[in-house]
Amino acid sequence: MTAHEELKANTAGYVLGSLDPEERREFESHLAGCAECAEEVASLRPVVGALATAVPQVTPRAELRERVLSGTPPRAGADARIHDRKSQAALTWLPLAAAIIIAVGAGIYAVRLQRQIGELRARFEQAQATTAVLAAPDLARIDLQGQQVAPDARARALWSRSRGLVFTAANLPPAPAGKAYQVWVVTAQAPISAGLLTPDPSGAGTQFYMTPADIAPPVAVAVTLEPAGGVPAPTGERYLIGMP
Ligand SMILES: [Zn+2]
Repeated sequence: MTAHEELKANTAGYVLGSLDPEERREFESHLAGCAECAEEVASLRPVVGALATAVPQVTPRAELRERVLSGTPPRAGADARIHDRKSQAALTWLPLAAAIIIAVGAGIYAVRLQRQIGELRARFEQAQATTAVLAAPDLARIDLQGQQVAPDARARALWSRSRGLVFTAANLPPAPAGKAYQVWVVTAQAPISAGLLTPDPSGAGTQFYMTPADIAPPVAVAVTLEPAGGVPAPTGERYLIGMP
């Protein structure tokens, strides 16, 4: 077990304030240099806040329940006893609150894990689809040239009617706010949208698109800059064009 793994287990305790001073110092000095633990603390804080407001509401109800079950009506002189019980209730609440926080923390962790698995699966499926295109017997290659607005931009489209389109671009300028790059398979009839392309900060991007099975042979592949979200037919400036 690494120091991080060992200390991460203290996150809930730290947020709850239940670590002893030495543990707390150790955790805080680790926290300063560990983004993951800092994120964990940040994600647990709202939960503690929610519990802090929830607990006082619940305590009187528990008291009432006890009174009802024992059949004792509230009477003068019972105040002290109730007060005692109240502080006892607060003590028994603390481990329960910790348990809830740990459970919620595990829930948050599970959700995050689920999302990571989802992302990995999407990436894996994309890689599988790309491999299938590259091995397609009907593979066609179309190289695209940067147009006047982006003379350094380059791209390559690898297309198989049965398996789809793998599009790889480089040197695209960052899309302005509210705009997005859209990839088009141009047929003799009409340009057909393949989908949006989101390049990384260096202007590079690879994307797999499925194209309609009955699509006519492309006469060109193009990239235009369109309103974010894309459009049904190209309206914006052409950044890349290529012909087979
Ligand atoms: Zn850590």
